[in-house]
Parts: sequence; C-alpha cells; structure tokens
Amino acid sequence: MSNKVSGKVYIEPQNTLSVYDECDILIVGGGAAGHTAAIAAARAGANNIILMERYGYMGGDVTGGYVIMVPKLSWYDKSFVRGIQEEWFTRLAPIPNAVLGPGLSVIGKDDDPALLDAWARIHGCISESEPKRLVRAVYYEPNELKIEMDKMLLEHKDSIRALCHCWGTKPIMEGAEVKGVIFESKEGRKAILAKTVVDATGDGDIFRRSGAPFSTLADGKTRSSTTALVWRIGGIDWALYHEWQKANPGASGALRDSLSKVAGFRCAPIASAQNDMCWINNWHNDRDCATIKDATETEMNTRDTIRDVVAYLKEACPVAFRDAFLYDIAPQLGTRGSCRLRGEYVMTANDFAFAVKHEDVIAWHSTICMINDCGPVEIPYRSILPQNVENLLAPGRHFSADNVAIDWLNLIPQCVGTGQAAGVAAAVAIADNVSVRDVDIGKVQNILIDQDVPLPRNSRVDKTYAEVCEAHDYGLYTELAGIARKEADGLKEYRQW
Ligand SMILES: Cc1cc2nc3c(=O)[nH]c(=O)nc-3n(C[C@H](O)[C@H](O)[C@H](O)COP(=O)(O)OP(=O)(O)OC[C@H]3O[C@@H](n4cnc5c(N)ncnc54)[C@H](O)[C@@H]3O)c2cc1C
Repeated sequence: MSNKVSGKVYIEPQNTLSVYDECDILIVGGGAAGHTAAIAAARAGANNIILMERYGYMGGDVTGGYVIMVPKLSWYDKSFVRGIQEEWFTRLAPIPNAVLGPGLSVIGKDDDPALLDAWARIHGCISESEPKRLVRAVYYEPNELKIEMDKMLLEHKDSIRALCHCWGTKPIMEGAEVKGVIFESKEGRKAILAKTVVDATGDGDIFRRSGAPFSTLADGKTRSSTTALVWRIGGIDWALYHEWQKANPGASGALRDSLSKVAGFRCAPIASAQNDMCWINNWHNDRDCATIKDATETEMNTRDTIRDVVAYLKEACPVAFRDAFLYDIAPQLGTRGSCRLRGEYVMTANDFAFAVKHEDVIAWHSTICMINDCGPVEIPYRSILPQNVENLLAPGRHFSADNVAIDWLNLIPQCVGTGQAAGVAAAVAIADNVSVRDVDIGKVQNILIDQDVPLPRNSRVDKTYAEVCEAHDYGLYTELAGIARKEADGLKEYRQW
C-alpha cells in the first residue's frame, strides 16, 4: 500500500526534509522550563542553542496561560527557590504593578500581627502551619513577564536562536540516540539536528515518540488531570473582597460553590498583582490537555460561561464586584498535565515524608506539599533523565513523578528549577563532550550554585539553610501513621492551585 487513503489510515509518502539548522542544544518548548533551560545553558557557557516555541511568545502557562501566582518559595526565613525563578521578580520589581508578594527581608516573620494581617488577604502569603508566618509567594503581571522573557533571550542573542511559531513533532532517532527534531511551521516540515535535545513541551511531545517509557494522565481526581482557561476580571476591589470575607465567615466558600454551579465546573477568583483585578482560575476535571477533544471543550465551555460568572459575582458580592467587567481571556489553554516521563527516578510522596537525600540533587525546593509542612524536597537529576534513550532531558511539568507527587511538583518553581538544571547539564555535557547521561553531576551542581541555586550538603551553600531544616524537624513533620490521611487532605486542599 503506498500513499493512499485506506479505511481509517493514510500512509504518508516517504519525504526528504531539509535541515533548517544545526545546534549543540535544542530546546523544544519555551515555557517556564524551556525558557529557563536556554538561559541557564547560555550562562553556563553553551553558545549554540536553539529554543523552539509553537506560539509567538515565551512562557507557556506563566504568560499565555495567565497563571500568575508562584507559591511557597520560602520555608521559615529561608528562600529555597532562588536562581532564575527569583530573577524574574527582581527584574519585574521596578515596573509598577508588575509584582506583589512579601519581600525576601520579611519572610518567616511571625511576630508582627499587622504585617501578617495585611498579607492575609493574598492567598498563599501566610504559612498553613503554626506559628503563622510570612511566606514568599509572588503574584505577577503575565504580559510584563512576557516582555521580560524576551529581554532575557535578547541578552543572550549571540548564544540562543529563538524560533517562534515552530511546532516540534517528533525526534530524529538513530537507534536509541536522539539526533534532532522534526518540526512544522508556515515554511513546511523541516529538521533541526542537535547534539542534545531538551523536551520542555510539558506534554512529552518529543520523549513519547522516542521510545522512552512514560505514564499517561494522572488519576482523574488530581489537580494535574484538570484543564483550564483562565480569564481576568477588572473593576473590582480585592481589599474590600477580603473585608467582606472576614465579616462573613464561610461566605467565600459558599460563593465558590455557587460560582461552580453557575459555571458547571469548579472555578474561583484569585488575587492578582493589582487590587482592581483578579483572575478566575478554573478546573475541568479528568481532562487531558494533549487531546483535541478535551482541549477544545475546555476552551469553548469556559468562554460560554464567562458572562454568567461575572453577573453572579456582581450580585453575590456587590461591595467588591459592583463594577466588575471581563478584562481579558488568556490567549492559550491552561495545561496542567497529560503524560509524564517515567525517568531513571520517579518521585513519590516518600521523597517528601522522609526527606529522601539524593546525591544527584539539582533543586532543593519548598513546595505546596503538606506532608512535610511545605518544607524543601530534593529533586534528583535522574527525574529529568529518560530511561533507554540518549541525548535527551525532560524538565518541566511532565518530569518524572508519580500520580500523587506530580501535584506537588509541577508548579512554576519546580518547572523553572528543573529547567535551569537541564540547561546547565546540557551545557556541561557539550563542553565535556559526553552524553547528558554521563554528565559530571558535581560540575552541574557547582554551576547551579554559581547561578544562585541553593543545594543541600554543599560547603559553598550558606549553612543556615541546613540549620533551618534541622531546627524544624524537616522531613519528620508527619508521623508515618498520619501520612495517608494528610496526603489525602493535601490532595483535596491543593486541587485549588
Ligand atoms: C490554570 C492553571 C493554574 C495553575 N496555578 C498555578 C499556581 O498558582 N502556581 C504555580 O506555581 N503553578 C500553577 N500551575 C502550574 C504551572 O503553571 C505549570 O505547571 C507550569 O507553568 C508549566 O511550565 P512548563 O514550562 O513545564 O510547561 P508549559 O507552560 O506548558 O510550557 C510548554 C511550552 O512549550 C510549548 N510547546 C508545547 N508543545 C510544543 C511543541 N510540540 N513544539 C514547540 N513548542 C511546544 C508551549 O507553547 C509552551 O510555551 C497552574 C497551571 C494552570 C494551567
């Protein structure tokens, strides 16, 4: 059978593709993970990098998806999530209304009731556990971040070639080795050859066609198996909304429940970097963002309910929403999860409950997991390293974690953190002329520390990081018997993100 339509199958004719470009490091996907990987690789000395993105801007969920809140960057008085993640906010800070959140100088503070009260109106800025203390959580303006991400790339324009509107479709394989990627664009189907490929598509678009093992959508009850289309409301007063919540205990829960009935799926208003604007986060259950049907329905069904949701808010809480109006709709689908890498290491709740130590640690992140009181967890290099396939790394929301752990790990900081490590590892592999599997992890860790990433058990890292862990029974927060219950509570509670 040649290139004929036959029943439900069409056999494509054999095709000769032109090579559009060649590089040392090809990063597919310019979201939080991929953009960070490109910047980190350039700063680690790589100078022949291509960053390929299917849309016209970088950031993925964090810019085009209007996910505008980065939680749990600190634990007690230590900011664990630093590096390029913190750099976003340092760069945006001088721009009016571009960032909002407790500053680094006040995190961990528990002795200033007025300050605690002031931040209580912004979700995630106060710890869940006692004593209540300030947590570094940052809200930002996505369009300002979009501009800043371009600026970061332009600063490295001698090392990074950014290609927009190019959709990576499959890896070029020679046996088990990835040799590049085929992509589609308005110029047709072409190839890019690369020594190392970083799959940062979020949905494993490259690794799932490479022969590397992967898992499909997480359990339908989890946060990462929900889709969204975020939109924003202007003309509101968030501070008055907070006052209304305080004066009417239980009212905001009831409002969320009613709102979800109005919409037909769970949705909730969340603060933004500006008092007169909020975003409507939403959760369409049991949806795979990498299927045509689920993606299309999420887009259409969400937009269909927007006017009703605005009308309901005006009526239910006029003090804050009287003048509310639809401000804008995110230009792209909110993609939480589809398939995940089953890498050389699969992260699980054990990593949190028992503070598992990894010699190949590449990020030491506080996150939203209640099992360890949101304390730092070690993410190993092996969790972005595929099994069976060479020259490939997979940072970002599809990295290797089981159904439960992925809900605590595919947040923005962990996508940035694994992206930064992937970029550095790829750069070291190129410099040493080895595959990413055989990279000298000690070198990678040292460069990450140079790039402001604190890592455990390293004499170059401020020892007060380790001291804060020791002082607060890090990893021993939950007794073994309580883990299952807390895990279930955690899932329920944190489906809101
Ligand atoms: C509605 C919603 C609310 C959330 N809330 C929070 C929150 O409050 N705090 C938090 O920390 N996290 C939150 N998250 C999770 C977080 O935003 C994401 O997990 C994270 O931003 C993912 O980053 P990433 O780079 O791995 O993937 P993505 O952001 O998905 O980036 C992937 C990039 O690759 C591009 N791409 C994809 N496929 C291809 C291809 N084949 N070829 C070329 N380019 C491709 C995409 O266009 C995109 O730019 C939320 C997510 C959603 C959807």
